[in-house]
Amino acid sequence: HADIALYHTKETGRNNFQFFTPAMNEKALERLRLETDLRRAIERDEFVLHYQPQISLKTGRIHGMEALIRWQHPELGMIFPDRFIGLAEETGLIVPIGSWVLRNACLQNKAWQDAGLANLRVAVNLSARQFGAKDLAQAIAEILQETGLAPQYLEIELTESLLMADIKRAIDILRDLKRLGLELSLDDFGTGYSSLSYLTRLPIDTLKIDQSFVREISANSNGAAIVAAIIGLAHSLRLQVIAEGVETPAQLSYLRQKGCDQIQGYYFSKPLTAGELEQTLRAGKGHAKGSILS
Ligand code: C2E
Ligand code: MG
Ligand code: MG
Ligand code: MG
Repeated sequence: HADIALYHTKETGRNNFQFFTPAMNEKALERLRLETDLRRAIERDEFVLHYQPQISLKTGRIHGMEALIRWQHPELGMIFPDRFIGLAEETGLIVPIGSWVLRNACLQNKAWQDAGLANLRVAVNLSARQFGAKDLAQAIAEILQETGLAPQYLEIELTESLLMADIKRAIDILRDLKRLGLELSLDDFGTGYSSLSYLTRLPIDTLKIDQSFVREISANSNGAAIVAAIIGLAHSLRLQVIAEGVETPAQLSYLRQKGCDQIQGYYFSKPLTAGELEQTLRAGKGHAKGSILS
């Protein structure tokens, strides 16, 4: 039948075929196309990093930035990570892509430092497959060596679910990473299936409060209570805490009042191109808005 495609799947092996309905077929085709294109994206230089500033609430100044990958697809335009990181993860392409991200974030940060613009820390997201790779610490050490960036200016963002798969092994890997001298943060905190008891055992530096809680600050008091609890928890464990997805003055003032260390979100800045962030730094606009300083 013409409407039903016979599809060969890698997972089921050589001689196994699965039936797809037309709708599923369309999805499978899109996936296949993205996968094919993704394989060539590095050599074709189609990835770009945007940088979102992270503001210290103590100084009101830019403290660091998170590197966020974008894919400039020649026909489909700009593709955001939520549409291709999962696929990259499943296919293993995330390993070379992740190395590309690390190398470029370090190179760019080192270039800004050498130009005398600022000594900021750059945060890079790590995926499960990268974290599981045998030689992660070695690979990062080599990238630091190659690019000349001092390790304290690199932060690695990890998620709870990534660590929970094998917590004992995860702790060993985190220790190896800390031995390099870099910073570690726990991204999207509060959204994973976490047991709080493991937190004390992780050699991390920073908790990143997930934006889903920050969004709730103004809307309902339960969200606000959770945010306050996470800030208190972080501080009692002597961790720094940063709030993600801060969009409104009300959220900002609540976070300040509760002693949050840093904020990241559209209220201060969306993710910027390297050129845009450089302009901001050159113009000495590293200062946050008046409402942050006041
Ligand atoms: P994340 O690490 O939690 O990054 C924060 C996301 O929130 C970014 O989306 C950022 O643009 C967005 N965001 C920042 N401020 C606000 C705000 O005020 N409001 C709202 N609504 N959103 C805000 P983005 O860049 O689309 O990235 C999505 C996710 O993709 C990231 O979540 C991260 O998990 C993943 N990702 C991004 N770059 C990389 C990468 O280089 N490697 C890996 N493995 N994952 C990446
Ligand atoms: Mg992140
Ligand atoms: Mg996050
Ligand atoms: Mg996320």
